[in-house]
Amino acid sequence: MQKKYNFKTSEPKWQSFWEKEGIFKFNEKSKNKVFSIDTDPPTLSGKMHIGHVSSYTHEDIIARYHRMKGEEVFFPFGVDNNGLPTEKLVEKENSVSLFEVGRKKFIELCQKTVEKIVPEFVSGWQRIGISCDFSKVYSTISPEVQKLSQKYFLELYKQGRIYQKESPILWCPECQTAIAQAELEDKELETDFCDIEFDLEDGKKIVIATTRPELLASCVAIFTHPDDKRYKKLIGKTAIVPLFNQKVKILTDKKADPKKGTGLVMCCTFGDSTDVEWFFQHNLPLRVSINREGKLNELANEFSGLKVKQARVKIIEELKRQNKLKKMRRITHTVNIHDRCGTSIEILPTRQWFVKYLDLKKEFLKKSAELNWYPKYMKIRLDNWIKGLSWDWCVSRQRFFGVPIPVWYCKDCQKVILPDVSELPVDPM
Ligand SMILES: [Zn+2]
Ligand SMILES: [Zn+2]
Repeated sequence: MQKKYNFKTSEPKWQSFWEKEGIFKFNEKSKNKVFSIDTDPPTLSGKMHIGHVSSYTHEDIIARYHRMKGEEVFFPFGVDNNGLPTEKLVEKENSVSLFEVGRKKFIELCQKTVEKIVPEFVSGWQRIGISCDFSKVYSTISPEVQKLSQKYFLELYKQGRIYQKESPILWCPECQTAIAQAELEDKELETDFCDIEFDLEDGKKIVIATTRPELLASCVAIFTHPDDKRYKKLIGKTAIVPLFNQKVKILTDKKADPKKGTGLVMCCTFGDSTDVEWFFQHNLPLRVSINREGKLNELANEFSGLKVKQARVKIIEELKRQNKLKKMRRITHTVNIHDRCGTSIEILPTRQWFVKYLDLKKEFLKKSAELNWYPKYMKIRLDNWIKGLSWDWCVSRQRFFGVPIPVWYCKDCQKVILPDVSELPVDPM
């Protein structure tokens, strides 16, 4: 035995021994009891990090334990190599921007880059001695996985579980693309906090406070906190939005902060994520007055065609002229900007695909109770997650490098046209 452990010689020696002997290979024909592990494929977003080492070691200890008990262990390995994190990595590796390259070329570049870096990425897991069956490395962008994923889409569609709906998403008006939450940055910005007077249908007046007067055309409700004594009498009444004259109800929600501004806020579709929540929870109408270029649309009447910032100036001027602007003060607040270009993001509705599953919550909880949990108290995490589900699951993204939604639309009537399972995988774009 060596006096000192030399990892530089020992590691490659044992790793090649394991590989040569096929120690971790899954034998389908084995008569032994099968113990299978649903290995979570790490996301291809850069190099392996210490968190990977820690979490995969847990699984490896269990795999080795069951192997020592004489069981046939199925412990495959995979790489999650599509979607936003991989696109970002490919952009960085090649110093390109996906919008400049275009969809077709960018997908090709992704495929090339992924082919190049996956072996090195996987070798990290081999180096730390994880006992996966590395003869079965799968990739979430491979034709097999795309086929499987699209097959389930079609099945769910036929069951009536998948449907399309207009839903709000984060949108960068500068890059003109949907963006993911991971691409947001917070920025402290100065802005004007405006107190604006609304007429009530009964002739009385109220004052709401907002940082986004340019969204008046999108106002669909006014909110106050249910315990705010000042406004108890207003609940259920109808107000008329200045300049645009649409009628909106005064509603209550605990998210309306009595200490902020006048304690009365407008809900616009959409100014921020609270507006999105209110839109769904209170079943509010949709009034979108900003287009994808970040300009006001025809709903904004004489302000249509103006960029958000210009519209804001003009609308404040007009409110002043009509004596509807009661107060204005400079404040600093945090806004979401796009990390790539620094532009304030908007929330715009687009058509997305959703999986209906809220009716299955009881079933999910039943399944959770059927599982053996180690440690026992971790069950509560899954149960709380299930109980907390309140929106259907949005499964579509506006990405280039991902599994395409296997659907065509009729040019004349927009009817959905599905491929046959035998044609999968398909790319309808
Ligand atoms: Zn942008
Ligand atoms: Zn048609």
